This record gives sequence, C-alpha cells and structure tokens, in this order.
Amino acid sequence: MGADAVAIARPVHQPIGGQTWQDRKAACAAGRVSPSRTYGRRWQELRRVYLATHPTCECDDRCGGVAAVVDHREPHNGNDRLMYAWDNLRSMTKACHDRKTASYDGGFGNPIKRGSR
Ligand SMILES: [Zn+2]
Repeated sequence: MGADAVAIARPVHQPIGGQTWQDRKAACAAGRVSPSRTYGRRWQELRRVYLATHPTCECDDRCGGVAAVVDHREPHNGNDRLMYAWDNLRSMTKACHDRKTASYDGGFGNPIKRGSR
C-alpha cells in the first residue's frame, strides 16, 4: 500500500548549468552580476547549436580556424532580441574574438587599454 506514495516523485530542483539557485540568489543580492553570469541556459543552448552548425571561424579575415566562441555581430547590451537573434551571431576562434572585441571596444568611445595601465 505504501508503495504508491513512494512512487510519486518528489520535486527535485536541479541546478541549471552547474549553477545552483543559491549562487543566483547570491549574485542577485550582490547587485553586480558579471556579463558572463547573466548568460543563462537559453544562451548556452543557442551557443552550442550555433557552434555545431557553424564550426568554422566567421571572422572578417576568414581565417578558417576552428570556432570556439559565438560572437554577437551587433552588441546585445542586455537586449534579449539581439542576444538570441540567430542572424546576429557568428562563430569565432578565441583569438579572433579577442582581437575583434579589442578593436571594436576601442573604436566606439569605450577605450579599453590592454596591458597599459
Ligand atoms: Zn578568424
């Protein structure tokens, strides 16, 4: 008789993307969430699929390298539409992404001085 009660699964709250809700709560409470932490499960999945279908770097140089990063052609700045827009994505190698990010950020009134502080 008691077996039926046991068969009813208790709700199990799985951590999403290796991040527990405690972590999220702590990040929220801190009031400062780094950009990488705001990339949730939806982004991780989109990124995974994009890399799988675009395995080669899509940088302007067409370097042909193996892509490891999904970049936003137009910076999303927290805008959900831009962040998840398939057309706004492109695969890049880590090196190409870093190079693009450095030149872009430096050229749009948001100077980033790398290694010269
Ligand atoms: Zn490249």
